[in-house]
Amino acid sequence: MSRFLNKRFNTLEAYTPGEQPQDMKYIKLNTNESPYVPSEGVIRALGERALCERMRLYPDPECKVLCQKAAKIFGVEPDEIVMTNGSDEALSFAFMSFCENGVIFPDISYGFYKVFAELYDLKYRMIPLCDDFSINPNDYIGTDETVFIANPNAPTGLALTIADIEKIVKSNENRLVVIDEAYVDFGAESVIKLTKEYDNLLVIGTFSKSRSMAGARLGFAIGSKDIIRDMNTIRFSTNPYNINSATLALGEATLDDNGYYMENAKKIIKTREYTTQKLREMGFSVLDSKCNFIFAKHERLDGAEYYQKLKERGVLVRHFEKAKIRDYNRITIGTVEMMNIFLTKTQEILAEAEK
Ligand SMILES: *Cc1c(COP(=O)(O)O)cnc(C)c1O
Repeated sequence: MSRFLNKRFNTLEAYTPGEQPQDMKYIKLNTNESPYVPSEGVIRALGERALCERMRLYPDPECKVLCQKAAKIFGVEPDEIVMTNGSDEALSFAFMSFCENGVIFPDISYGFYKVFAELYDLKYRMIPLCDDFSINPNDYIGTDETVFIANPNAPTGLALTIADIEKIVKSNENRLVVIDEAYVDFGAESVIKLTKEYDNLLVIGTFSKSRSMAGARLGFAIGSKDIIRDMNTIRFSTNPYNINSATLALGEATLDDNGYYMENAKKIIKTREYTTQKLREMGFSVLDSKCNFIFAKHERLDGAEYYQKLKERGVLVRHFEKAKIRDYNRITIGTVEMMNIFLTKTQEILAEAEK
């Protein structure tokens, strides 16, 4: 730390992204990326000379075409959407803008919530999950703090119903509820349509998971026109060109091929069910995931050791040191071929442990 850093940040613990190792080729099941390449339309868009020539100009700060296409797909108006540099930026704006009364979020959830709460010097409470790792909606009913919930939640993979979320939103119309739908395409129900009815609901989405675009950094938020106007005030006060021209073009091409991505999501759901069943047959406890990952433990395996042994065998998964979940690993769902390698390595590790 230099002597110039604002003292407020002396103790800030930054978010730790999952490893992106460059040393060797791993079967990468650690950061919930899609195993499927972007659509032909996206590949074509990136190769276009016109796109390259446009790079000398600033991008459209209103992301007009992209917002129009997204509005059609999500059934809202273009001015009810704001595009962000990954959904992390949408979350950042929401924490920055709407949290004067403090924030609440589950104790086991996306690690960035706590980082943003500290970065923006907010009062926050972390609400413990139930023993079965589910979220109890009643914990969020009627409170005065801004609510952040990932639905489905990560790293557990468990989802709340629309009715549960509506109860939370309804219970106090004077505080905002932010629902992070990063994984919603893998089997949960989106609450985007509730934004029509409730102006205290903000839904955040991303192109990183189901739409194979983690590297392009594109996310969005959907809410009432007033909330989106506020988000845009913050966006134009920090970085109006937050979406670069290439990402804009790729985002548009992605939405043109939305069907391709929804088919891929279905394939991942199928592979997830297959992998879950195989792991359970080997004696693992696996939570019922609605995401493109599963959360699993085995009573004969130490969580950290299992992670390490998989890594030595070229398979990367995500392990968290937090006491409550240290027996578990979060395993991204790849292709069937990738999962079969993972399952074979797991079988080997189990056989070794049982010797
Ligand atoms: C991956 C993830 C995000 C962030 O994704 P971006 O790549 O920044 O769009 C947000 N929330 C949750 C719960 C995630 O898992």
